[in-house]
Amino acid sequence: MSEYILARKNERNIPLEDKIFGISNRAKKMIAEKGADKVINATIGSLLDDEGNLIVLSSVDKVFRDMDPADYADYAPIGGIPAFREAVKKAAFGSFQPKSFTEAVATPGGTGALRNVMANYSEPGDKIITSDWHWAPYNTIAGEIGRSIETFSLFTDDRKFNYESLKETAVRLLEDQESLVIILNTPAHNPTGYSLTPEDWDKVVGVLTETAQRGKAIALVIDAAYIDFAGDEEEYRKFLPKLEKLPENVLPIIAYSLSKTYTLYGTRCGAMICMAATKDISDEFRRVCEYSSRGSWSNSAKVAQVILSRIYSDESLLRKVNEERAYYRNMLLDRGRAFEEEAAKVDLETVPFDAGFFVSIPCDNPDEISAKLEKQGLFIVPLAKGLRVSVASISEEKCRRIPAMIKAAM
Ligand code: PLP
Repeated sequence: MSEYILARKNERNIPLEDKIFGISNRAKKMIAEKGADKVINATIGSLLDDEGNLIVLSSVDKVFRDMDPADYADYAPIGGIPAFREAVKKAAFGSFQPKSFTEAVATPGGTGALRNVMANYSEPGDKIITSDWHWAPYNTIAGEIGRSIETFSLFTDDRKFNYESLKETAVRLLEDQESLVIILNTPAHNPTGYSLTPEDWDKVVGVLTETAQRGKAIALVIDAAYIDFAGDEEEYRKFLPKLEKLPENVLPIIAYSLSKTYTLYGTRCGAMICMAATKDISDEFRRVCEYSSRGSWSNSAKVAQVILSRIYSDESLLRKVNEERAYYRNMLLDRGRAFEEEAAKVDLETVPFDAGFFVSIPCDNPDEISAKLEKQGLFIVPLAKGLRVSVASISEEKCRRIPAMIKAAM
């Protein structure tokens, strides 16, 4: 160990290793020692086939392989190539045609969009709202730029979306803050798999309309990372028109990601898309977010921007991509249902689940239980309020086996 500490902590709590990668490494080690048939690694946040191999849509891969060097080697403009900016709006909105003023700015994945929203729609020291069950990197992203996360309770005691808690938290924070960023990860929320229902959305719109009367700026971020793995694409986009009922000082921003939808995780491509009530607000969004991109990652990688632009310029290719994804989505939905069915049989309580990559189990001692399960070869992720199982990374047969293992360990 060196006697020097050179890096500044800057009020961050930096662990020695990333928790999920640490667990995953232990799973790999056990596979090497005892064999793959003795281990279930349900920690990974990518869609894997039943044998544990990454699923890559072949229709997307073909576009990749047909590229010219300039398509992937060249710089893209800071806000993204023009064809991508149009294509990504179509990808995010589906058949919905917004009346609001929309602008899309390319970002390195959904992560980049989240970073840019926090950096530009809140101030240093501000608190950002999301639900108590949430994707842990929100904290890291906020902490990196001197913000922090404040949570509301996602569910009421009777397992309904807790809009009252959202309202109470928003009103409280706006007493001290001039602006507020709220992140809702839906549909197919990570880590619970919950999707806001149309009624939940009506409540959110009502709460924010009321809260906005204070005249402050609110950015409502819809983290749509899993939108195309929830179920029918059109059905799960039906909440979008409701966002246009929000008052002018509430700006809906879609944090869109190509990671899951196009199985392009490593190409780091996404976009932030605003739905502004006025052109001034959408122009400001574009100008400010592009400026901020320049000062953080400069331009985003071009490769997936070109891929998405090609897919959206060729109807038959788009159909092929959507059909191929639908096949894997059905596989994923079957896995989630299998888990739920078996959980019900052994009386294992899960957090309200709809669809997606993950299922969560509430419990008081997640670290202890996951350590116990690791010894039996089952690797899952302990969270603050429970355990997260990635149904995206294990077969349906394994999804059926593990609820009983978890129940027995509790
Ligand atoms: N939001 C949530 C809830 C996620 O789980 C992820 C990825 O796992 C992302 C956003 C962003 O992913 P990416 O930056 O790869 O697009």
